[in-house]
Amino acid sequence: MQLTEERHGHARTMDLNFERIVNMNIEVPRHVARIARELEARGHHAYVVGGAVRDSLLGRTPKDWDICTSATPDEVEDIFRGSAVPTGKRYGTVTVLSADRDAVEVTTFRKDGTYSDGRRPDVVVFSSDVRDDLARRDFTINALAYDVLQGAVLDCYNGLGDLKAQVIRAVGDPCARFREDSLRMLRAVRLGAELGFAIASGTLAAIESNHEAITRISWERIREELSAMLISPRAGDSIRIAEETGLLQHIIPELQACIAAPAGPPGAGTVFDHSLKVTDIVEPVLHLRLAALLHDIGKPATLGRDASGATRFFGHEKVGAALARQALERLRYAGELVRRVTLLIERHMFTCDPATKDKGIRRIVATLGIDVIRDLAKLREADRTALGAGPGPDSNMAAFLARVEDVMSRGPVLSVRDLAVNGNDVMEALGVPEGPQVGKALSRLLDAVLEDPELNSRERLLPLLQDMKGT
Ligand code: ATP
Ligand code: MG
Repeated sequence: MQLTEERHGHARTMDLNFERIVNMNIEVPRHVARIARELEARGHHAYVVGGAVRDSLLGRTPKDWDICTSATPDEVEDIFRGSAVPTGKRYGTVTVLSADRDAVEVTTFRKDGTYSDGRRPDVVVFSSDVRDDLARRDFTINALAYDVLQGAVLDCYNGLGDLKAQVIRAVGDPCARFREDSLRMLRAVRLGAELGFAIASGTLAAIESNHEAITRISWERIREELSAMLISPRAGDSIRIAEETGLLQHIIPELQACIAAPAGPPGAGTVFDHSLKVTDIVEPVLHLRLAALLHDIGKPATLGRDASGATRFFGHEKVGAALARQALERLRYAGELVRRVTLLIERHMFTCDPATKDKGIRRIVATLGIDVIRDLAKLREADRTALGAGPGPDSNMAAFLARVEDVMSRGPVLSVRDLAVNGNDVMEALGVPEGPQVGKALSRLLDAVLEDPELNSRERLLPLLQDMKGT
């Protein structure tokens, strides 16, 4: 069988029977090698597969070591009795624990049946041939199998060539593979960003013509790939590729309006370009990268002009925080992460007047928390660097942070939680039910305590509450 792929205008034929065994040594952890040897000793075939082979050959440290074998899940369980956990037997996976509790997934060679939903195979058929297993894998560089005993790599799709050429290429016909499981399109973009590889032209074209199928994939699986893209060394590029191939509009439609919208003054580029720059500059921590990507998402909707005719985006941080919340909740990010990211977006225009008194600084730290302030500083710096702006007197976050550290070193910063009275006291004293009134009262008490720390006792705060009654 022959497969033809259009490449730079030339038809390139790829022989599906291409197969070679290359002697090479991969340093396999002892507990992994022991499992492979044990399986072979019992008359089965066993290979290290997937990301571990790819990463080892690239000189990167593998995240996890997977073994695939001709032994059935029952046989694997039997051979490793006592240390085998049937974690995904339906799909052929048994987890084998070593003495020091390192977990290795041992999966029976699989031949996937038809895919009618664009996500998962309808049936999984076990096979005794490793080639069946490699054929169902997503990309050529992920379809290499390492024979531990022989010290040899089995390469059926020129994955070694693609590793060398730094190319992500689908195994077989990319369109067919993306129609089987549409998440693979996003995995291609993610893997490219992590490894710094380009996507092969035929594979890229297949994403362009199948992008809509990503909508069949669960938000959780999409989220995992998006997160990995964002903390990769090529975050900005990967989001741009997602946009150009058509994937992004289905994943974060809120960003769509940013693609052509001006970021501000002439020469500042588009909101989209600017956001990608900030994303690349800020350190690779998920909540910071998400905040960077989405920080100006409210600009297109708030575009206006001030009296002098200059471009302004009044309230874009509030509108942006709401749009970001909508996007992040749809992607099923955890509530705590959503809260952090939206708070950063809502406050990203935060500036501090150098004339602010210590009490004011304490108040800011008490309301936002020191971690949020540090994150805001990072986001602001990245934002300004992306704009090519130097630090201004009211926006120099480094100077502000130094102030914060100084004030904090001279005494603890109080928050509502440190008050000598709590919400129940407030409800009782004011005769009000749980609700925003309680928070407001506590905030007023905190203000008073920040002014005069001596006030922080029940004896002094309860009378203050009495005074608030009816105000
Ligand atoms: P990572 O370093 O992120 O773990 P990985 O390549 O190990 O990368 P996994 O998601 O752990 O990725 O998957 C392990 C292997 O299983 C892959 O290398 C690939 O061979 C195969 N695989 C994973 N997901 C798919 C998929 N959707 N379609 C086909 N094969 C897949
Ligand atoms: Mg892996």
